[in-house]
Amino acid sequence: MTESIYTTYPPKLSAAQEQFLVSTIKDWTVQHGLTVRPPPTFISQETVSKGVLATNAPVTLFPSPFPKACFEEARAVQKVYNELYARITSDEKWLGEVIEELIDVDDFVAGLWKVHQAVSQEGYVQDLSLGLFRSDYMVHTLDSETASLKQVEFNTISSSFGGLSSRVAALHTELLQSPPGHSLSYPSHPLFDGRVPPENTAVETLSAGLAAAHKAYGLSKSSPSLPLAILFVVQDGERNVFDQLALSTRLTQFHKIPVFRLVTGEILDRTSIPDGNPSRPILYTPPHAPDSLFEVTTIYLRSFYAPTDYITDRDWSARLQLERSAAIKCPTILNQLSGCKKVQQVLADPNKPENLARFIAATDVEGTQEKLRKTFAPQYDLSPNGRGRELALNPKTASRHVLKPQREGGGNNVYKEAIPGFLKSIPESDWKGYVLMELIQPPSEATNVVLRSDGEVLGGNVVGELGIFGTILWKSNGEILHNQEGGWLMRTKGKESNEGGVAAGFSSLDSIILY
Ligand code: ADP
Ligand code: MG
Repeated sequence: MTESIYTTYPPKLSAAQEQFLVSTIKDWTVQHGLTVRPPPTFISQETVSKGVLATNAPVTLFPSPFPKACFEEARAVQKVYNELYARITSDEKWLGEVIEELIDVDDFVAGLWKVHQAVSQEGYVQDLSLGLFRSDYMVHTLDSETASLKQVEFNTISSSFGGLSSRVAALHTELLQSPPGHSLSYPSHPLFDGRVPPENTAVETLSAGLAAAHKAYGLSKSSPSLPLAILFVVQDGERNVFDQLALSTRLTQFHKIPVFRLVTGEILDRTSIPDGNPSRPILYTPPHAPDSLFEVTTIYLRSFYAPTDYITDRDWSARLQLERSAAIKCPTILNQLSGCKKVQQVLADPNKPENLARFIAATDVEGTQEKLRKTFAPQYDLSPNGRGRELALNPKTASRHVLKPQREGGGNNVYKEAIPGFLKSIPESDWKGYVLMELIQPPSEATNVVLRSDGEVLGGNVVGELGIFGTILWKSNGEILHNQEGGWLMRTKGKESNEGGVAAGFSSLDSIILY
């Protein structure tokens, strides 16, 4: 089936058909907010700074075929993955031992750990944590007949594109469904017969997670009591703002919860924790209403995941201010650190099955632990005399691997043949800051056409990466108040590109047709 799909998919477009489809999509994206702020390479900085323009997010013209069994498998394990990462976060001793290994080689991880320790010493005043997670996968094909699901990474901070990916699913659905029951935009293809992308509830799911935290916060801890709100902490100059607004709009309109956006650089100017209140509520004053005060129930980080978000010591102080407050953090520092690539490697280590078993029972009837293990691709540390070191230094075996530092957001990995040289260019004592991962081998025949944000249309061989969203709200004693799976993201990149980040400019948003 796999092969037959890709030999004829997507259907060929004549020049006139492509032009029609592209202009339809351009209009649709702006009409429905499937948009980003324009890239600085596209228009002048002066025009960017006026903040009046938006352009289409990079999108594929066609949905990509995706094996139904793999999609269902990814959905089926999401709530278990949510629990796994909640439990790791609550197991400070175990996580601390993993992180300890990284601290002397990775300043960023060390900085985060230091903030956690400072708050730990003072005592955390908030026992609840919120996770808005995304587990990313590729379809691994051993031969053209067998497709299996392999996890690329698990994201515990700023898991993005829930907002825009729902819109891409809606776009492709509309293109497939034009009346009278067959597409006016696409040439016919057997895969299109009656099929549309599966429902995408990412916005509903992610917002419901934030709303659950807001509710669980309870009453104002200030006296007199203050109105409550959720705070989105964002990057200055964020281009992916409409993705975030999809969530805040849902929160204000459906859940009736006030939401404010605050850039990291203004945290210390706009928020405060009153000295005399041992509950440490964090208060926020909107710049447009200097006489009003809100108490923040939930802090949703769409920033602070990369070293570039911490320019000065003031940014670290700002992170400390958020972490020590009574607000429920999405995520806490520990939850952010649980998403380190090193944690994923340690869980997947076939020689240390006790690591995963510590968090997920091995003997339950449903075989939950086995289901998770099946999604792991081989991963190694680079310890002396270890298998990872051997595979990474030999150019022949390195070519089947990717080397990952403890970073998020794309653009940080070292690929294939470049690995041995890269390792030799850094001190050997730093190697323990990296993990080596076997490359997943997605179907090689897939093609699609992409409309980029600058209007360019590109076609060719592509590789897809599926993300499944999940949210969980839990107490440090392990009690779970809310655990949901819902919504997905399909990203598609040119096959020749190693990296896959949309925001980092490597890939585009897509949707899926299940087969
Ligand atoms: P980041 O935190 O920067 O997103 P990822 O682990 O997701 O780091 O890696 C970035 C990109 O590199 C992925 O989106 C994917 O395209 C590619 N990649 C990472 N790991 C693998 C792998 N094991 N096999 C194939 N591609 C991979
Ligand atoms: Mg990634």
